[in-house]
Amino acid sequence: MNKTNADSSLPALPQTPHTRTLVALIGLLFAAAFLLGMGALINIARNLNSEELQKSYFYTQKALETRTATSAALISSFAVWDSAYDHLNGIADTQWAYKERNLGDPLFINNGYEGVFVIDRKSTKYGLLNGRLTEVALSRYLDTSLGSLIDAAQDAAAQARAVDRFALFNGWPALVTAAAIQPGDDGTRVDPASLSVMIFVDQLTPAKLLKLGQAYGLTGLAIEAPGVQTSSRPQLNLGRTGYRLTWDQPRPGNDLLWSVVPPLLAAGMVLCLLLGYFFRFALRTSQQMDSNYRVLKVSNQALEASEERFRAVAEAASDWIWETDEQGRILYLSTRFVAVTGFTSDDWLGKPLEQLLHCDTLPIDTWLADLRNSQPHTAHLRCTYRDHCAQPRYCRVSARPILQDGQVAGFRGTASDITDEVAAHAQIQHLSMHDALTGLPNRNLLARHLEEALGRLSHPPGNHGNAHGLTLLLLDLDDFKPINDTLGHPVGDAVLLEVAKRLRDATREQDLVARLGGDEFLMVLSGLTNDKEIDRFCARLIESMRQPIVHGDQQLYIGASMGIAQSHLQGPDPTELIRCADIALYAAKAEGKNTWRYFSAQMNEEIQHRRHLENELRLAVKNHEFILHYQPRYELDGMTIVSVEALVRWDHPIEGLISPDAFIPLAEQTELIVPLGRWVLREACETARHWPGDLMVSVNLSPAQFSRSDVVADVRETLIQTGLPAHRLELEITENVMLNDIDNALHIMNALKELGVRLNMDDFGTGYSSLGYLRTYPFDSIKIDKRFIAAMALGSNDRAVVQAIINLGKAMGLKVTAEGVETEQQLALLNSDACHEVQGFYMSRPIDKLALGRLLAQQDEARLPSRSA
Ligand code: C2E
Ligand code: CA
Ligand code: CA
Repeated sequence: MNKTNADSSLPALPQTPHTRTLVALIGLLFAAAFLLGMGALINIARNLNSEELQKSYFYTQKALETRTATSAALISSFAVWDSAYDHLNGIADTQWAYKERNLGDPLFINNGYEGVFVIDRKSTKYGLLNGRLTEVALSRYLDTSLGSLIDAAQDAAAQARAVDRFALFNGWPALVTAAAIQPGDDGTRVDPASLSVMIFVDQLTPAKLLKLGQAYGLTGLAIEAPGVQTSSRPQLNLGRTGYRLTWDQPRPGNDLLWSVVPPLLAAGMVLCLLLGYFFRFALRTSQQMDSNYRVLKVSNQALEASEERFRAVAEAASDWIWETDEQGRILYLSTRFVAVTGFTSDDWLGKPLEQLLHCDTLPIDTWLADLRNSQPHTAHLRCTYRDHCAQPRYCRVSARPILQDGQVAGFRGTASDITDEVAAHAQIQHLSMHDALTGLPNRNLLARHLEEALGRLSHPPGNHGNAHGLTLLLLDLDDFKPINDTLGHPVGDAVLLEVAKRLRDATREQDLVARLGGDEFLMVLSGLTNDKEIDRFCARLIESMRQPIVHGDQQLYIGASMGIAQSHLQGPDPTELIRCADIALYAAKAEGKNTWRYFSAQMNEEIQHRRHLENELRLAVKNHEFILHYQPRYELDGMTIVSVEALVRWDHPIEGLISPDAFIPLAEQTELIVPLGRWVLREACETARHWPGDLMVSVNLSPAQFSRSDVVADVRETLIQTGLPAHRLELEITENVMLNDIDNALHIMNALKELGVRLNMDDFGTGYSSLGYLRTYPFDSIKIDKRFIAAMALGSNDRAVVQAIINLGKAMGLKVTAEGVETEQQLALLNSDACHEVQGFYMSRPIDKLALGRLLAQQDEARLPSRSA
């Protein structure tokens, strides 16, 4: 998480194209080298061939020259010879020449001359053809000018040399050697023109050519006739005969190629295969690398996106995110930290988290250490810290170990700022214990105080001189109602505030002054030892009350009546004490104003009255003298009716409709609440069954029903009997239900939830520690008490409380309803605070069954909110 660098994106790396080019290049190079080598080889072979060709020319020439020279030497030895001259220059002496074999067949047999002739310019004087005498003239055999031959031989006679030429003999090329016949070297000179000429004919027969070739290392030596298609074989012209001597062209280069190229090709092929394999491998590897690279890039992008998302969330979230190392030193703080705390990240990076956050109940270090040992999970801790202005703030810290290879490498978590929530909680707490107008303790705090104080009395710690116990003084203002009605609520409020101040001024630190509602106050006094002291106190108080109250330019006069109950006389039961004080107050009022009365047994008339009322109520339950009125609840978004609350009224035969506040408390104090509650539940479900759609019905449950009856069984039975689907029934329960037996209440509520009904916390904000209950109990929704709604428009403080409750409810996933909405302004404020649902006189008062039927029909038609009067 530490440093996310935006430029971490991988460079574009077109891997495969590069590898391909490289591979192609290497292949090309290899082919070029191969071709070059082959070229060089062929060149060498060619050179070798041509060299050998030259040589073969040379040797052929040499062979012919040698043959010619040999023939010339031989003929010279016969021609330049005295005997020959003597026997042949004139008439040819055949006897000498042939018979005596001086120029006879040995020349054919041994030397291979097919023709041996002696001629002069006139005739052929002697002739041998294949070693036999012949009479035929040489000109008949030899196809050359004999005259020129004789000329040449005679010309060369001076040097005793022979001449030679190629000519056709008997139609076949032959080497013709001629020499003038002259006497040996005896110094006598003869006229060359007179000399006969000796001629040897050496036909170039295939047999002779074969031998000649063998002698000179030539093969295929042969004669090619003129006109025959010239072959590519090397050739030498044989004089002017038109015949050519040819032979096989030696091709050592070719041999070289034949011997070198096949293995070279084979090696090349093997190399090619190897190279191909290698290239394929290289390509594959590079493709693999490419795909790896692409995958890497994609995952890198995903990582970047995820980091981006994380950043966006971290920056947008209201919580800040922290991370520490193993020792709890801060490694990371999200940017929200700066916005929330006013510190810079650098102020805290590297410092222990413990130094920043504190928890009264558990040191952070210990908490983190515990996380290390347990299964990995997210834990929460409520902490405090001081922001950069040293203001105390609250946050809910979550933490989770960071695991690396199964080892804890640090911790990570969030810190949600709950300062406002804590403040709202404290405010709600205060409001639930205090009167919103005067700031005096209310009934709740009074109940707690009484319980504690009376509890101390029954178990006095040591000799705490409080023998007379507590004195309860219930005070009711005289003539307050007219002030309120004629001068208006603001004046009424001002009077109440002044009264509260005077009462507080009159009492001591350890005494308690509570406002019970309206113009009723209760004082709990301790340390008053006798009635005289109490009387003095009461007189002083009445005197103080009678002082005019200045409001603007008006002087207002009020008085007070008081009823007194004493714990050492009426017992240590708070309810009973208040009841007694109430009876005494009633008596005081009856006596006239500005006076006080002690409770006495005679005042029990009141109790009689209560008994009477109780009997009447019992009868009423028996006779079903109750009816239900229905008050719709609207969804703020669209103003459609989502639920209808059933509110009970006593249809008294004489007194008419009596409001529930007048008899529900009495019913709760007796067993009567159970049958009454059952009747209400049943009647409401029965009625709701006929409502259109999924419209819900809300039924109020009294805490007394929880302790005195089996609510779960009652609800189950009612649902079965009426056939109303469970999800259409909502039960409204006040927090007081939790006061008696927390575990049992939770158990019952879970069982109710299991039936499928919805649970709504009624009068939210008026009881004890509302927040705690919300967390623990399975409520679906909360109803903000109408007291908060009524006060909302008056001051922004109360509005802030309503807002805090709405936000809290939402944070806990609960539907939030505001009840007691009486004005358009309240509705608008709730709307802007995004409250979910509203209920109140402004939309609709509680109405009877028939009127509700009409309202629902009307809504079905118009789908508009109704404001029936
Ligand atoms: P609650 O459950 O808080 O019911 C709302 C009370 O506020 C009703 O009084 C209703 O008429 C009144 N109300 C509704 N809108 C407004 C408004 O805009 N301004 C003002 N000032 N008041 C409004 P109601 O019908 O007199 O009932 C009083 C209380 O009696 C109820 O308070 C509830 O706690 C109790 N109650 C009523 N019916 C039953 C019931 O069937 N069973 C039980 N156990 N208690 C019931
Ligand atoms: Ca209610
Ligand atoms: Ca209520």
